[in-house]
Amino acid sequence: MVVYLVGAGPGDPELITLKAVNVLKKADAVLYDKLANEEILKYADGAKLIYVGKQAGHHYKSQDEINKLLVEEAKENDVVVRLKGGDPFVFGRGGEEILALVEEGIDFELVPGVTSAIGVPTTIGLPVTHRGVATSFTVVTGHEDPTKCKKQVGWDFKADTIVILMGIGNLAENTAEIMKYKDPQTPVCVIENGTMEGQRIITGTLENIAEKNIKPPALVVIGNVVDVFKEMNQISD
Ligand code: SAH
Repeated sequence: MVVYLVGAGPGDPELITLKAVNVLKKADAVLYDKLANEEILKYADGAKLIYVGKQAGHHYKSQDEINKLLVEEAKENDVVVRLKGGDPFVFGRGGEEILALVEEGIDFELVPGVTSAIGVPTTIGLPVTHRGVATSFTVVTGHEDPTKCKKQVGWDFKADTIVILMGIGNLAENTAEIMKYKDPQTPVCVIENGTMEGQRIITGTLENIAEKNIKPPALVVIGNVVDVFKEMNQISD
């Protein structure tokens, strides 16, 4: 028995890795989250497919329940794939699942995926670093677990480019925090449904981006690299 923790990439089914396809082909069981595109499940022909993601209006599985199910399936099957969007270790709670496997002495392997944090900006031609403009970038969650008693995110980032994942629900609050440290005119680009049908690009500034009608899934890129993107793609506001 072995569990592969696999990244599915940001949405476009062609952005999955060859290694991910090969492990899906030999899977006996696949536990998958809400995927941007379920087309990739076709590679797991004949495997037991178990959806463990969120379902609107339904009870969804807690992380503990998912960990337990993963351990159970690993004990019953030779090859189990745990498939997650993007990269499994970028806000994917993949680490918690690996720790649950370790506790039970179950073998595991990691297959990285193209994270939306970089893959989505690159797909539209937005470089997260650019010589002379940005020498560093940071990726942050815009939605910390509300049950945590102490918030971990401090918004005074040193990096030149900031990428916010899960940041749409709290966009006004988060941009207000960042404006305490950065110029309100700093350019911002939001990408909805990146790499997929219905992809939408919205540009603005720290000051006005929250007023634009944005729907998840979307990510937010903040910094002067957004101007480089506009120049490369001949876009004006
Ligand atoms: N492990 C994933 C991220 C999980 S958090 C990864 O590496 O990509 C989920 C967040 O990722 C969403 O709230 C959104 O901010 C972002 N995201 C994922 N796929 C996206 C896409 N196709 N377009 C825009 N944002 C996306």
